[in-house]
Amino acid sequence: MAIDVVTVDGPAGAGKSVCTRALARRLGLEYLNTGAMYRAIALKALRDGVDLHNDDALAALATAVRLESVDGRTYMDGEDVTDAVRASEVSLNVRYPANAPAVREIMVQQQRRIGASKPIVTEGRDQGTVVFPDARCKIYLTASAEERARRRLGELEARGESADYDEILRQIVDRDRSDSQRAVGPLREPADAVRVVSDGMTIDEVVDAMERIVRQRLTIFNA
Ligand code: C5P
Repeated sequence: MAIDVVTVDGPAGAGKSVCTRALARRLGLEYLNTGAMYRAIALKALRDGVDLHNDDALAALATAVRLESVDGRTYMDGEDVTDAVRASEVSLNVRYPANAPAVREIMVQQQRRIGASKPIVTEGRDQGTVVFPDARCKIYLTASAEERARRRLGELEARGESADYDEILRQIVDRDRSDSQRAVGPLREPADAVRVVSDGMTIDEVVDAMERIVRQRLTIFNA
């Protein structure tokens, strides 16, 4: 018996995207980045001048676009938007579609449709709790707020940008709070997930730990 859905949830900055992408490659499964799907809706709204405060308009837009994940890249109506959705203007506005219950309902359906079409490793905030509650392998990848702030500071400094540790830490704590207090699809650790705390670990060590978890689950389900 093969595992068809592996879920990876966790807060921003825990290394989810880079580690989940690498895990999917090792396992030979498709990688689904659900944050990129919410980002794509924000991108489309910004491009089309749709009011981000109007949940009905955002839901109409989410119904109209077709989102796909192919070779780890995100496509919106056939256009590769993987890089475009990382723009800072999108990051600043993604909370509007992410907090709109009607948009979430549509995204959940799209994610289940993608999961039904091929085996996937999917990352987000609600994958193991809401979207794939019956997944046989769930991982919760996290790190302390201080570790995540240190990493973010390192990234910014490497890019030659000046940044203040305390300010970054405050933003991370704020974002965790808004992610976990959202009325629909909040960030929660699935009761049946295996937790990986990535403090002090390299990317390879985290991916090794995740791969061990998946292979162990496979053994359990094949027994
Ligand atoms: O992970 P990333 O930063 O790309 O997520 C973008 C936004 O989408 C975040 O605000 C996050 O809370 C939201 N999100 C979500 N549900 C998911 C994945 C991401 O609400 N499954």
